[in-house]
Amino acid sequence: MTQISLLDTTRAFKKTTAVNRLSLTIESGEFVTLLGPSGCGKTTTLRLIAGLETPDFGEILFNGVSGKYLSSSNRGIGYVTQSYTLFPHMNVMQNICFAPKMAHKTKEYQEKLLATLIEDLHLHGLEKAYPNELSGGQRQRVAIAQALAGKPKVLLLDEPFSSLDAQLSQELRNLIANLHNRYQLTVVLVTHDQQEAIELSDRIALLFNGELTQFSTPQQLYHHPETMQAAKFMGNANFLECTRISANILKTPIGLLQTNTSIQQEQNFVIARTENENLRPNHYAMIRYEALKLAPLDKARQSQTANYDSPSNTFIAQITSREFLGNLTRYQMIVGEEQLFADTLSTPHLQPGDMVELTIPPHSLWHIIGK
Ligand code: ADP
Ligand code: MG
Repeated sequence: MTQISLLDTTRAFKKTTAVNRLSLTIESGEFVTLLGPSGCGKTTTLRLIAGLETPDFGEILFNGVSGKYLSSSNRGIGYVTQSYTLFPHMNVMQNICFAPKMAHKTKEYQEKLLATLIEDLHLHGLEKAYPNELSGGQRQRVAIAQALAGKPKVLLLDEPFSSLDAQLSQELRNLIANLHNRYQLTVVLVTHDQQEAIELSDRIALLFNGELTQFSTPQQLYHHPETMQAAKFMGNANFLECTRISANILKTPIGLLQTNTSIQQEQNFVIARTENENLRPNHYAMIRYEALKLAPLDKARQSQTANYDSPSNTFIAQITSREFLGNLTRYQMIVGEEQLFADTLSTPHLQPGDMVELTIPPHSLWHIIGK
């Protein structure tokens, strides 16, 4: 298996710095996703790893060996580019066996390899089909088989799901997760879709404008983003201006909120000297939409477990609108003067105008600094 280290890697084109001083280490056997909006440098990073681009500055190490000494074909890489690279005049079998044939492998070797890949990529019955006779999902699987036929240690995948419908995309995700384990590969996936990244990755490298914003596990990135940009890119969230008045208490416009998430040293959170201190500019308490808990007010009032001690993280809110999202219902509500959103499973059925009890669980509150 292969560990890949990018050290200050930079690649600039005339007007754009596509990749700007990117440093990250992808461990051997790890599944890492390069995530970010279109144009943030994901494909360029893959091309740098593949040896199809040369860094202007910095370098890339493969198991500690500089890419300067490794040609593209000596890096043990299988690369599935964003536009399919199948040869139109070759059938599936010939496309898959292209690399072993060029490497003068025996017929026996090729046949055995082909049988394994046809099996693992679910391509039975398509051996003799030509690319233009295949569906998008089938073509994508042949392209992956073609990349794996070179027995790579690293698999690079550029937006492999982008042209597939939801069901095919899900099938291919499962297949890729499976191949990652079975073939003991280091995988670098590129996508702009945070859901795909969350579902598949050991770690996600979030890029904006060619720069690395955060490199961490999907859980870290989703629940504990280090910047506002990361927080917003990963999913919907409410942001309340805040001041930290003790290790576990945030003062916000709706009242005091208890948080279990620890203060991060590197963020230099300063605890206010008194409770009366103003809300700090650019300090926010983040609460993801689905973390808010709603209960019809009457029931909650009767409940003996409801806790109204301050800071209880429990408030009375009024629903102002409701949107049906299929698996979820999104409620907009007003608490004091703040508008908040909550995504709930489609029960209980609340109506605009209803008063509700709103709870913000302490573990789902995250203090963030940013604009
Ligand atoms: P992504 O894959 O994240 O959409 P790319 O890596 O393709 O982003 O591109 C990053 C930036 O670099 C874009 O602004 C793009 O226009 C620019 N770029 C990429 N390749 C070239 C090239 N060969 N010549 C000029 N500009 C390029
Ligand atoms: Mg791209």
